[in-house]
Amino acid sequence: MVNVIVVAGAGVSGLTSALLLSRSKANKVTVVAKHMPGDYDIEYASPWAGANVLPMASEENSRWERRTWPELKRLTEEVPEAGIHFQKARVYRRVKDAEAPGYHLSDYVFSTDPWYKTVLPDFRELSQDEVIPGHDSGCEFTSVCINTVVYLSWLVGQCLKNGVVFKRVVLTDIRDAKSLSHTGQPANIIVNATALGSLKLGGVEDTTMTPARAQIVLVRNEYHPMIVTSGTDDSATEITYIMQRAAGGGTILGGTYDIGNWESAPDPNIALRIMKRAVEAAPGLAAGKGIEGLSVIRHGVGLRPWRKDGVRIEEEVLDGSTSIVHNYGHAGWGYQGSYGCAERVVELVNEIRKRKGEDLSGEGK
Ligand code: FAD
Repeated sequence: MVNVIVVAGAGVSGLTSALLLSRSKANKVTVVAKHMPGDYDIEYASPWAGANVLPMASEENSRWERRTWPELKRLTEEVPEAGIHFQKARVYRRVKDAEAPGYHLSDYVFSTDPWYKTVLPDFRELSQDEVIPGHDSGCEFTSVCINTVVYLSWLVGQCLKNGVVFKRVVLTDIRDAKSLSHTGQPANIIVNATALGSLKLGGVEDTTMTPARAQIVLVRNEYHPMIVTSGTDDSATEITYIMQRAAGGGTILGGTYDIGNWESAPDPNIALRIMKRAVEAAPGLAAGKGIEGLSVIRHGVGLRPWRKDGVRIEEEVLDGSTSIVHNYGHAGWGYQGSYGCAERVVELVNEIRKRKGEDLSGEGK
């Protein structure tokens, strides 16, 4: 039996879903998207990401990140061409941020007793003399940083190897994906990984989707460990982070987490504050020369696909012969949850296949 699957979206969510689905020979997978790896566009979050692993979910919702870490670790150890390297991460906390009303950057990464301390290697609390000025406490663990340009292209290559076919398409309605399979047959499963596109895409129109705007500065300067702080005194929507990408991908300085802000142009005042905070937190980044010591590759803005009630991963029956499996709304954790979410997509697809009477007992052998 053959399953005709069309994946809408070629960001990290769509590509990882396509990759895991294409591991079953019974699945004939086509990826359709407006933007593909190689593009830089405000409607395409994935290339802008750091991207590292700083767990953000509560323990209750930690499945996606928990299940992604082992695969990212394996790729880092065994698949250098994927463009991922290990980096230590240092998380600095301020008590006043945790206590601030309406504080939305509190992500569980700043917890003083985080669930991830038994998942990510080498976790330890920092001693007081290791905490940067203006912060109350901190922790350190081993994480990874992904060169998104290399990694997204690597995902495309892995999909092509498995027979996935890619097409540039702008969808006005998710139901149109049904007729877009390279097989020429109508799709019986559509995977919706259109992220922020799901706000306006006909047949989805999820009005709980909005951007969490991320302004960044990409510099040539190298620095490790990676750094993230729980807040700044500049603005409630501004944060500080530094992460050096693998394989010469530059170092990302962040940033902002501004929910509901669609502005695609970098704000020069914010850019200045990002650079100032970065060299204050890590003077070695610019060899002690302040922001004049930074070598800027580009200023950028990406829109994280934020969803009010969190990620949507579920099946929706379109008609008697077709289902949509949604996988969108990953906000700021699309990479670090990518394998966990794509694995759930495969589970949902397999449930559909079983309902159709398919025997899956030979899968995975
Ligand atoms: P996208 O990458 O936005 O892809 C959406 C796809 O859908 C695109 O191919 C688009 O063309 C397509 N599409 C949309 N609408 C249509 C349509 N109508 N027709 C056809 N195609 C359509 N995450 C981490 O895990 N770690 C990090 O360190 C991290 N850092 C970040 C830093 C920044 C600056 C930013 C901006 C984000 C960061 N993120 C990070 C978040 C991460 O980038 C996102 O969660 C992730 O990229 C979302 O991927 P996606 O595939 O769901 O969406």
